[in-house]
Amino acid sequence: METPGTDSSVPPPHVLIFPFPIQGHMNCMLYLSEMLVYSGFHITLLLTDHNLSLLGSSSNNNNHSHPSSLPDIPRLRVLSIPDCLPADHPRNLDGWVELLDSLKTNACPLYKSLLLDLCKMDVSADGFPAVTCVIADGILPFMIDASEQVGVPAIAFRTASASSVWIYYCIPQLIQSGEVPFRDGADWDEPINSIPGMESFLRRRDLPSPCRLAKNPEDKVLQLLATCTAHSERTRGLILNTLETLESISLEQIRAHMPTTYAIGPLHEMVRAYRSQNNVCAHDKSVSLWHQDCTCMTWLDQQPRRSVIYVSYGSIAVMTQESLIEFWIALVNSGEHFLWVVRSDLLRGEEWTNIRDSLSLEVRKGTEERGCIVSWVPQVEVLAHPAVGCFLTHSGWNSTLESIVGGVPMLCWPFAVDQQINSRLVGEVWRIGLDMKDVCDRTTIEKMVRAAMNGETASEIRKNAHELAKMVNNSVVEGGSSFENFQRLIEYIKSLCKRNVQ
Ligand code: UDP
Repeated sequence: METPGTDSSVPPPHVLIFPFPIQGHMNCMLYLSEMLVYSGFHITLLLTDHNLSLLGSSSNNNNHSHPSSLPDIPRLRVLSIPDCLPADHPRNLDGWVELLDSLKTNACPLYKSLLLDLCKMDVSADGFPAVTCVIADGILPFMIDASEQVGVPAIAFRTASASSVWIYYCIPQLIQSGEVPFRDGADWDEPINSIPGMESFLRRRDLPSPCRLAKNPEDKVLQLLATCTAHSERTRGLILNTLETLESISLEQIRAHMPTTYAIGPLHEMVRAYRSQNNVCAHDKSVSLWHQDCTCMTWLDQQPRRSVIYVSYGSIAVMTQESLIEFWIALVNSGEHFLWVVRSDLLRGEEWTNIRDSLSLEVRKGTEERGCIVSWVPQVEVLAHPAVGCFLTHSGWNSTLESIVGGVPMLCWPFAVDQQINSRLVGEVWRIGLDMKDVCDRTTIEKMVRAAMNGETASEIRKNAHELAKMVNNSVVEGGSSFENFQRLIEYIKSLCKRNVQ
């Protein structure tokens, strides 16, 4: 795939990649970085000081220019800027809007001056040429504008599903039609009619959480998502971590407004396929902000085929003690074996281990016999393990794609943002799982876990999940839609870099 430029008047493409600084966004933008390196590009991955220090400390390595917890990829370097928040700020679902505000108000000027420096240098001390293009997270429109002001063409990357991006784009119509905000006493199971292409399956409860929570049309988060999505119409292009056949309706609608849209996912599978076809030594490292507890892999090795339900709520969800207890009792009572990720910051102001001590002896015994609870796992590997029979997930977009690639059916319990629509796609459109949104009682969870693991429903969703996995895996190899779209993206970025020097 590598095609280094031969025209000496054109600088080699050097793309600066700037993800919103949370785990899910960083993961897929690192995969994109790796794919661009394989195409001959230089890449500067821009992180925040806070996250870079977490990556450094997770491996006890203080080399901040390239933390050893990141894969060592040639022509890829890591730089950082401050997010300008206090060290103890919760950079999770409780604090992401403040993080965004701080990036806009305080970090954006620092970004602009860094980019100016990176553009001036023909070749820097570490051999990197001047930056010729920026790919910034689409929820950072101010960084995209700042790049263009410096004279660097910028492309937006939205890491959520295309379906959620399409809904955010339609927020003005939802408001105009009176469907959002919800009126008092509205039936959450009623269909939504003002999103073209989704009339047959979208209900009120399936709208992304900002639409469900808004009390008035001026709601800050609602307007923030509407604005950054509309902004992508004015950028040089839009990249989505999805694929044509999976989200064809939303992609078609988005392209009617943003024709330069590239669907190039699932990026983690693109990288895996490239590495395996080109004998690139597989890295066992990832851009993980938590320490991975790999003992779970040994535990999985000891479990029978498809006997384990893997449970994770992603990297930023925060839940109540009451919900955690309902899940715990349901998992034990289901009689299934379970691998459960309980992050150290999953509960607001409470240690989950204190809750364990308050549970009945029976539940603690059941946990010891059938459960494995860890703080963070290598999720892609877990989902590829034959012992895993189902994924109880919060329906984050990366987790959804990773489960689809692994052919693992899902039991969805969405929290926020795009997760409500992703879980609807899983349950109703692709039929590769069950959607458990808006309930959290031990009896229902237990019943749903049993249904997802055994019996007729389980066989049906498993069969559908296997078929979908085959289709998705074909999209990332030569001739597949994501592979071909990625080639077009490469040519497009090169053309932007050329135009910029003329
Ligand atoms: N993840 C992981 N180990 C875990 C839990 C999650 O590596 O124990 C990764 C997962 O593979 C995914 C990301 O964290 O790539 C979570 O992103 P997602 O979009 O699913 O959800 P978010 O964290 O943004 O809500």
